[in-house]
Amino acid sequence: MNTKTNIPETSSQVAMAALPDSQEPLCDTMGNSHAAVLPTASSERDQTVAAVENSSSPQPTILARIAQTVPTLLVIGVLVGLGFFGHHYGWKIPKFSELTGSGVVAPTDWCKEHGVPESVCVECDPYLMPAGPDYGWCEVHGVHNCPLEHPDVAQLKETPAIETADLERAARALALMPRPENDPACKVYKDRIQFASIESVRQAGVDVELVERRPISEWVEGNGEIIYDQTRLAELSARVPGTVTRVFKNIGDSVREGDVLAVVDAMEVGRVKSDFVKALVAENLASQTVSRFQGLATGVVAGRQIIAAEAALAEAQAGVLSSEQALANLGLPIDAARLRGLTKKEVWNRLRFLGLPHELANQYFSQNSTANLLPVRSPIEGVVIDRQAVAGEVVDSRRALFRVADPSRMWLTLNIPLEDAHHLSLGQTVRFTPDGSTSELAGQLTWISTAADRQTRMVQVRANLSNPDRQLRDETFGTGRIILREEPDAIVVPTEAIHWEGCCHIVFVRDKNYFTTPESPKVFHVRSVRVGATQDGFSEIIAGVLPDEVVATQGSDVLRSQLLKNNLGEGCACVAE
Ligand SMILES: [Zn+2]
Ligand SMILES: [Zn+2]
Ligand SMILES: [Zn+2]
Repeated sequence: MNTKTNIPETSSQVAMAALPDSQEPLCDTMGNSHAAVLPTASSERDQTVAAVENSSSPQPTILARIAQTVPTLLVIGVLVGLGFFGHHYGWKIPKFSELTGSGVVAPTDWCKEHGVPESVCVECDPYLMPAGPDYGWCEVHGVHNCPLEHPDVAQLKETPAIETADLERAARALALMPRPENDPACKVYKDRIQFASIESVRQAGVDVELVERRPISEWVEGNGEIIYDQTRLAELSARVPGTVTRVFKNIGDSVREGDVLAVVDAMEVGRVKSDFVKALVAENLASQTVSRFQGLATGVVAGRQIIAAEAALAEAQAGVLSSEQALANLGLPIDAARLRGLTKKEVWNRLRFLGLPHELANQYFSQNSTANLLPVRSPIEGVVIDRQAVAGEVVDSRRALFRVADPSRMWLTLNIPLEDAHHLSLGQTVRFTPDGSTSELAGQLTWISTAADRQTRMVQVRANLSNPDRQLRDETFGTGRIILREEPDAIVVPTEAIHWEGCCHIVFVRDKNYFTTPESPKVFHVRSVRVGATQDGFSEIIAGVLPDEVVATQGSDVLRSQLLKNNLGEGCACVAE
């Protein structure tokens, strides 16, 4: 009989002693519980009061005072009893063994060590529940009795089949990054934790869950932003100083490659054009001289003169090339070969509005405009994202007039902590959630910086995001994940099922015959497990349990405590608090 019932019983015995025989049945129905004390106390008070009334004592007031004091004494007695009870348990909730071993069991049939009746203790009587096969340590997966190689260790009625996919998934998980290790020498996996009954499992507050399959993923996370694809971004300026005469495009306007956004009047343009015409005329003259000499009979002209004429032609040709190049530098390419043979006026007409679209050239022609006009063209297809040009303004080549971007594809740049960077490789999937948004964008990793930021110790990475409906905006901030591994069918348990016993991660697997008969031992097996990714309260088990096995979850600390207790004094150095 334990202390829990002894103390209150003492109080009630005191009370019972004062009762007449007729009151005894009341006490019997109350039993030994605390609840019996107070009614008994009031019965005693009635008794005492009755005694006072029957008595012929000359001092009834003294007796009445005693009668008032008795309940107080009893209450004090109960408090002392409670104090003794509390002190006995160190003011803590009673431990596993007290809970699992219900008070009804006689002390003679009680295994103190394992907290169950001696007659059913599977640890003390090896015949009650013979230990299963022991395959020892698995080098590949780092667990004892590996169910991936020996599925018969699973606490399932039928031995499950291990699919190749399960072995491959475990290999992927182990290859990706170092996982917490278990101690090959540890013997804790052989332990079994037994309860006296299903009721005592319930009293101990131990819950169970099925091992199941769930999608799980591992990633590297970083903050970042969406910006325009910097290879599809153009900054447009006038190549030479001048005055803006007309502006055709504004912010938000779509432009095609080659579209004229503005026209600048630049004297340099007129000068280069007239240089070109002069060079072409000089080349023509030199060419005619050489031809004339070549047509004459030998000896009429001195060889010296022919050489001089040929040198002059070569020089004139170089002059044409040079001014052709000068026009190209202004963004006004022209093919001199196609202008040879034209008159000076014809050449000038070709050059006057060089680079302007036909329609625009006609407008300027009718206005009798100068030949100084320089179009500012977009080199890419996209949208005008910035416009600084204003008609009448004096500009030069350092001043950007427009910015044009192609928003159909955006860059996502992320900053990844240096210590995570070694997990990254090109082609990995990147998911990005803009701040204040719930939708997720996806792209592929296309660039990883070879340097880390000096101050922040971050490594910059980039992914391309396609943006067909143009919903993504430049300079959108948010959080991105680079997916290292995505497993749709990972084997998982609730994270609270997993414990660290000092050298191994373990779970408690319910015995497969737990419910077979009421007498079946209520046993949980200790299983070492290799823990992978953890997500949303579930942890991946790379190896150690199989789907449909049952593990202790909430309240499984009770099992861990009992495991530590079982291993105390057995010299198992690995088990620690
Ligand atoms: Zn035992
Ligand atoms: Zn294995
Ligand atoms: Zn261990």
